[in-house]
Amino acid sequence: MQRKKAVVDAHIEAARVSRGLLLIHTGNGKGKSTAAFGLLARALGHGKRAAVIQFIKSRSDTGEEAFFRQHASLQWHVMGDGFTWETQDAESDRKSGRAAWEQAYRYLQDPAIDLLILDEFTYALKYGWVSIEEVAEALGVRPAMQHVVVTGRAAPPSLIALADTVSECQPIKHAFAAGVEAMPGIEF
Ligand code: ATP
Ligand code: MG
Repeated sequence: MQRKKAVVDAHIEAARVSRGLLLIHTGNGKGKSTAAFGLLARALGHGKRAAVIQFIKSRSDTGEEAFFRQHASLQWHVMGDGFTWETQDAESDRKSGRAAWEQAYRYLQDPAIDLLILDEFTYALKYGWVSIEEVAEALGVRPAMQHVVVTGRAAPPSLIALADTVSECQPIKHAFAAGVEAMPGIEF
């Protein structure tokens, strides 16, 4: 235990860099967006200013939005049309995807935003609404201390390469498979 503590202490001692981070929550299991909202609570608790853009979600009756929207240091945008297989309208999806990215781009230039959450952003890349080149460019010139969190399944390797911290949610069990409907407070 003493040896272990020395190793951990040495790592802590070596970690001296302070800068804005890019985090990715990906994978097929539940918890990607909820983990991002946990970070949001943590950052707001430190008096930081934040913005959330939901790229796919079109519903505005989520518990997280009701709770966080009241916070003065936070801007919340629901900019999706819903999942593509629900809308069945690729052109309108592309338009709302582009509009969401343009909003994200404004925040990526705004030093007043300490934490930017791009929820379900991986789909914007997957469907080609946004190119990895423009994302890399915008991330590269963002304010030095700004943290960005991207959630969504199947994060492309090109985005993972740019990230500092990447976590994968792995499905082990999900209540949906047992026929349980989306429970308020758990799924939305
Ligand atoms: P959450 O918002 O609950 O953290 P998530 O962001 O990890 O979920 P999404 O891919 O955004 O997952 O999926 C949104 C919805 O799909 C959520 O209601 C979530 O519980 C559900 N879901 C996620 N993973 C699975 C799964 N493996 N099987 C069935 N439903 C799932
Ligand atoms: Mg999600």
